[in-house]
Amino acid sequence: MIIMVDNYREIKDHLPPTVRIVSISKTQPIKAIQELYDANIKVFGENRVQELVSKYEALPKDIQWHLVGQLQTNKVKFIAPFISLIHSVDSLKLLNEINLQALKYKRVIDCLLQFHIATEETKFGLDREEARSLLLSKEFARLKNVRIKGLMGMATFTDNYKLVRNEFRSLKSTFDDLKMEFFKNDEWFCELSMGMSGDFMIAAEEGSTLVRIGTAIFGNR
Ligand SMILES: *Cc1c(COP(=O)(O)O)cnc(C)c1O
Repeated sequence: MIIMVDNYREIKDHLPPTVRIVSISKTQPIKAIQELYDANIKVFGENRVQELVSKYEALPKDIQWHLVGQLQTNKVKFIAPFISLIHSVDSLKLLNEINLQALKYKRVIDCLLQFHIATEETKFGLDREEARSLLLSKEFARLKNVRIKGLMGMATFTDNYKLVRNEFRSLKSTFDDLKMEFFKNDEWFCELSMGMSGDFMIAAEEGSTLVRIGTAIFGNR
């Protein structure tokens, strides 16, 4: 079990201090998360709402929980009281519902816009024009209980590292452009969530601030 803490520290040692690790604990047992928590590791990510809620209930309340998987609007209410960052916002409709639920709990919920950067059809997310039209909309301007902290993207699952690097580079460039156009003086728009177990070093080199690491910490799922 201690090996997970060693894995985490080894990854951390290889990353620049500007990059934070979100330990992706999906499918992992409570006691594995507790082990990392006991070593003062407190940022975890899950991709399923039900699993996230049951782990939240079972574990210490100062854990920062991130949601990294596709989120259905009818499930926002279950995570709204406690979620620390939602990485996977891909529509105004979803953002509206997050805003509504955040309001109920008198919170402002931090979100990232998820971009489609991979060549695979299946990975969902926005493109630059869709994101711009969302950010330009009157409806978005009325949402006071959500805060867009940055962007998230998943690269193509491939060993073609040149392709992966290009995808990350393009997301960073979109991030810079959107920052200029919409968030110029907003110091909170500063997060770029990219990089997983297989590609986090490339992501870090291309400007990631949050890497989402599962198997490289916990072992195979
Ligand atoms: C599972 C998952 C990860 C972590 O993947 P690993 O390859 O195990 O590091 C990162 N991001 C998302 C969105 C995931 O679903």
